[in-house]
Amino acid sequence: MKRNIVLVLRVLLVLAALGLAVKLVWPDRRLVATVFDVGQGDSILVQCGTRQMLVDGGPDATALARLGTAMPFFDRTIESVVLTHPHADHYVGLIGVFAHYKVLHFYTSGSVADAPEYRALLDAVRLSGARTLVVRPGDRIDIGDCGHADAYWPDLSRANFTFKDPNAESVVLRLSRNDAVSPQAAIMMMGDATAEVERALVAEKIPLQADVLKVGHHGSRTSTTPEFLDAVHPKEAVISVGKKNAFGHPAPATLLRLSASGVKAYRTDQDGSVRVVIAMDRAYVE
Ligand SMILES: [Zn+2]
Repeated sequence: MKRNIVLVLRVLLVLAALGLAVKLVWPDRRLVATVFDVGQGDSILVQCGTRQMLVDGGPDATALARLGTAMPFFDRTIESVVLTHPHADHYVGLIGVFAHYKVLHFYTSGSVADAPEYRALLDAVRLSGARTLVVRPGDRIDIGDCGHADAYWPDLSRANFTFKDPNAESVVLRLSRNDAVSPQAAIMMMGDATAEVERALVAEKIPLQADVLKVGHHGSRTSTTPEFLDAVHPKEAVISVGKKNAFGHPAPATLLRLSASGVKAYRTDQDGSVRVVIAMDRAYVE
């Protein structure tokens, strides 16, 4: 009798250990956007369960290493990769991503670059078999059945808008859950969008509210205008920026504007990778 009890206890212990192991490796169903620390550049992994959208790939292979730890080890497919605009600090790291993962869709702003690394990216995309699509306002990228990113920019049809700078053509995305119950339960991801873009978005009268703002252009002083902050009304901001970068990002003026609006700013150069949870009723830095 005593032996039977010991046996039952042992079986229960093994089952509990197995359950814990499955829980540890099996991805949860939360919608999470991780702003990777990739030095001076941008790379954001949006993930829910085994579905991913990678927004930009940073300046080098760092994002690939970050993906290796952030994604479930058995998941080798990234459903969507978005390149906000073709500047090296956003796309060079994508070359390795296309070589190491199966990517289903590759979304771009439509603008192109004339650089050997950019041609290497196009070759890697071609070899991967990913389908290339140009993002326009009104497009929606699904994150499985958890959530979706609405594309707000670039809108090339806008009259009197000058697209001299690829930054001004950045893909702008607003990510929220499908079962959101609050208009603030979102993150706005600005790429390197400029003040000109922010003004155009405010004039559009589209839903801009978001608890978390991934600020435009690494906190440069030419983005994150007070009018835009009023419209988004974030509680927290994330700045993707390299330590001691040559551009002086983030600009002290931008940090001041954020603090004057009561926004708590997180920086990848000081805080490392920043995880943002998008819940039904709010979004927040974890
Ligand atoms: Zn940039």
